[in-house]
Amino acid sequence: MLFKQLFEPDSATYSYLLSCPDTGETAIIDPVIDTTNRDLSVLQAHNLTLTCTIDTHIHADHLSGAKRLKALTGSKIAYPAIDELPCADISLQEGEVFRVGNIEIHPLFTPGHTNHHHAYLINTPIQSLLFSGDALMIDGVGRTDFQSGDSETLYKSIHQKFFTLPDETLVYPCHDYENRHVSSIAQEKERNKHIAGKSVEEFVKTMADLNLPYPRKIDFAVPGNERCGECPDNVPEEYQGPCARYDQG
Ligand code: FE
Repeated sequence: MLFKQLFEPDSATYSYLLSCPDTGETAIIDPVIDTTNRDLSVLQAHNLTLTCTIDTHIHADHLSGAKRLKALTGSKIAYPAIDELPCADISLQEGEVFRVGNIEIHPLFTPGHTNHHHAYLINTPIQSLLFSGDALMIDGVGRTDFQSGDSETLYKSIHQKFFTLPDETLVYPCHDYENRHVSSIAQEKERNKHIAGKSVEEFVKTMADLNLPYPRKIDFAVPGNERCGECPDNVPEEYQGPCARYDQG
């Protein structure tokens, strides 16, 4: 399997390219509209055709690259089935393996950051890779104070769906704000400052006390991502760059 971790600096988002060496089928998990041209260059450099994009949830901090990549490459758009997005071509749900060539992707329903959030697990002969989205980050968790978030639900998702995985499972999050790239289940169980060793009550209080600022892109990102990464009319001028570049072809 060809595997690349890609980064979009403005929203500190990681996207993940996975390609099956046997069939050439290729997916990008959580692409960002701002880095569409970079994604195309990476695909071209490796002589790959994009089969599909896969989102973990309706993001509030960036526009998804799903729709743009579909327009430019013909890739299909995959989202959790529970989102019921009319723009999605493929619906994913826990218990149903999704295949990209010979790569088997196991969706894990992990609500809490949003009520529809899914993570994706891939078991290879050597290592298991968890794409944890915004449910579990490196020494952090996704915020729960907006967009259908719920701390108690997130606590259950992390404990029941992630902390039951083998310790060696690598954790690849959707974001990191401090140039960290990967963690493991063992590391997050032992030293994640938000959740390690905490009761559900302590976790709920930790999350309630974060007092995070209002997300600067949420007002256009959520409606745009409910249309798989379309640029809505209310994108402020300072964020219109990626939308304008698309309009100009
Ligand atoms: Fe998010």
